[in-house]
Amino acid sequence: MAASDLLPFERMWPLVFQRLPRPESERIPVVQASGRVLTAEAVATKGLPSFDNSAMDGYAVRSSDTTKGEGTARRLVLPGVDAYAGSPAPPPLEPNTAVPIGTGGRIPQGADAVVPKENVHRRGDEVLLPARVDPGSHIRRQGEELSAGDRLCRSGEVLDPARIASLLMAGVTNVEVAHRPRVGILSTGNELVDPAQTPGSGQIVDTNGPFLWLETERLLGCSAIRHGPVRDDRNSLEASIGSVLDQVDVLVLTGGVSVGDRDLVKEILEEHFGVERLFWRVSQKPGKPVYAGMGNRRRWILGLPGNPGAVVAMWHFLVRPLLLGLMGARHPEPERIPLRLGTALRPDPKRTLLRGCRTDWFGGTRWAEPMERNGSHMLSDLARAEVIAIVPPAEEPCRTGTELEGIELR
Ligand code: AMP
Ligand code: MG
Repeated sequence: MAASDLLPFERMWPLVFQRLPRPESERIPVVQASGRVLTAEAVATKGLPSFDNSAMDGYAVRSSDTTKGEGTARRLVLPGVDAYAGSPAPPPLEPNTAVPIGTGGRIPQGADAVVPKENVHRRGDEVLLPARVDPGSHIRRQGEELSAGDRLCRSGEVLDPARIASLLMAGVTNVEVAHRPRVGILSTGNELVDPAQTPGSGQIVDTNGPFLWLETERLLGCSAIRHGPVRDDRNSLEASIGSVLDQVDVLVLTGGVSVGDRDLVKEILEEHFGVERLFWRVSQKPGKPVYAGMGNRRRWILGLPGNPGAVVAMWHFLVRPLLLGLMGARHPEPERIPLRLGTALRPDPKRTLLRGCRTDWFGGTRWAEPMERNGSHMLSDLARAEVIAIVPPAEEPCRTGTELEGIELR
């Protein structure tokens, strides 16, 4: 196969990106929106704090009562009520009295300062203050952080637990988020057995299936439809693909997209299901035979090669960004980070190498140490890699210290 038949690695993602539709949105409770992408800005529905409250455990006082008798302790009477957080609203504070208050407790009407507990001497039902208190001391003022209508998050932001908590604080109960794509995962190969079974002679466990559905569930927060392992014959493939395709927005297949006699997946997709090819075969290692197509009703079909190392690499460079893009994320492609090679490496003359590396920080530089067990059929090292370094095609060896780009694996 001529290298010119292959799509250059750097053109793969742009081809997908330009076809991404504008996501449809739905309104859901904010507590259920972790990992979802906002399609509209989220604004505070109330000011924060929502009432004047104490920043300390101590006593609510009138500051004017504490200015008298300079040089002597001021004596304030405790009227037998309190203003702890969650207590019913205390009655207005009478002159020359103080009310015990806790952090977050509502400031009684008439009080304008809080004296921390450690700054007073309590004696029976009165407190002695050694010094005057400034008005406003230790009070969190209503609205000092936010006003109703202030913007908290923009459209395109991914909601995480901290953002969700901040929205809840500001009275937001529902948010507009992009729909989550429905994903189907289908492993193909006569040699495969389900992980619950023990492989017989010549058989292996389907590991691509579990990898892809676990990653998908982690990313989307919901399960993918799982199918397979499916045998490499026309009838089984047609039946399985047909049963999943209708229920999903993205179908990810593994195996059967290469040039072997039993690699029927592309043919069946295009001839039987009318899938339009976006690309087949990318100039990369691992993952050369990868296929992408568009089914009817804008369904995405990705055919990954069966080799487990290729599946992991293609998850990061193709599947995950597609799912994030469909979820409405503003920057779905993996962020490129600068790396320097810690050990010399021989590039491929024609294809981009995607190499799992461990990394070390030294002298402000992140040094990438390519891992050794890097065959596309191997996972033992790639599964523990911290980054994938992107090594463009070249004839000459890459020396130690060569600057490269890579992506973080998380
Ligand atoms: P294929 O792309 O179907 O030619 O498969 C390439 C290699 O990947 C073969 O060695 C297969 O046995 C292996 N393989 C295919 N599918 C899987 C899978 N789901 N899990 C683990 N290995 C697989
Ligand atoms: Mg196969």
